[in-house]
Amino acid sequence: GRLDGRSVLVTGGGSGLGHALVGRFVEHGARVTVLDRSEPKLTALREAFGTGVRTLTGDVTSFADNKEAADLAVREFGALDTFVGNAGVWDFGRSLLDASPEELGTGFDELFSINVKGYLLGAKAVAPHLISSRGSMIFTLSNAAFFPGGGGPLYVSSKHAGVGLVRQLAYELAPEVRVNAVAPGGMATDLRGPGAMGLADRSVADAIPIRQMVRDNGALRIEVEPDDYVGAYLYLACRDDSATVTGTVVDVSSWGTPKRTGAV
Ligand code: NAD
Repeated sequence: GRLDGRSVLVTGGGSGLGHALVGRFVEHGARVTVLDRSEPKLTALREAFGTGVRTLTGDVTSFADNKEAADLAVREFGALDTFVGNAGVWDFGRSLLDASPEELGTGFDELFSINVKGYLLGAKAVAPHLISSRGSMIFTLSNAAFFPGGGGPLYVSSKHAGVGLVRQLAYELAPEVRVNAVAPGGMATDLRGPGAMGLADRSVADAIPIRQMVRDNGALRIEVEPDDYVGAYLYLACRDDSATVTGTVVDVSSWGTPKRTGAV
């Protein structure tokens, strides 16, 4: 496979896009370590992929948990070549006017803590290992990293912040480590929201007709599965394919600005 013997760490690999990434990385010969806060999802992942994966139940907002996951990958698989920061939450399009001041404040803290601080602390934990292996980081952003309407102000600004993080880390970690991102569009996944906004028990797939929205608003008018976005990650993870690529966001969303529909 394209990634034979490579060691990859994926955050939020328990479901959705992260799960699709784990499957395809394993299929291409990589050994994969997964950090996710859902123990049941990780149990299912180990049952599905067996010895190709190692898992750690933990929270990406904790540096200690990120470090434990990075150390686990190195201990089990001898090195770490690729870090995929992917765990995230959504704000269900809760707008400035619809959110209470309290929800904006506590929702910001919780959502940015996962979507932005989680990526920053993950990067901090893996950087020494990636410098040794001359590896790379890949972050999951979104159409919301470029356009309004794919969430409310909290989610959209968190994904825009991810673009700045990618550019700055690419600048700081060159020439040893390449740092890039992928911006997928909508997917019917278990994507949840901040508990502080009462959105921890809703998933995007249940809340909105996301498949149809992606098909009807997307330029290509196709139904999309998480697996359809994985190719860009494989490209960025394979040094032979993307040796010159750093500090960039590969936009695979074909989505742009959704029609204004209001809160969901
Ligand atoms: P998902 O909920 O199916 O997968 C996310 C995983 O992250 C879950 O397994 C969850 O348990 C885990 N997670 C959440 N918070 C965590 C934390 N604090 N610590 C550890 N693990 C945590 O959702 P998904 O749609 O596959 O989301 C993956 C990424 O894709 C996110 O960054 C999301 O913003 C992005 N994205 C999603 C969509 C979409 O429409 N679903 C669109 C564009 C971008």
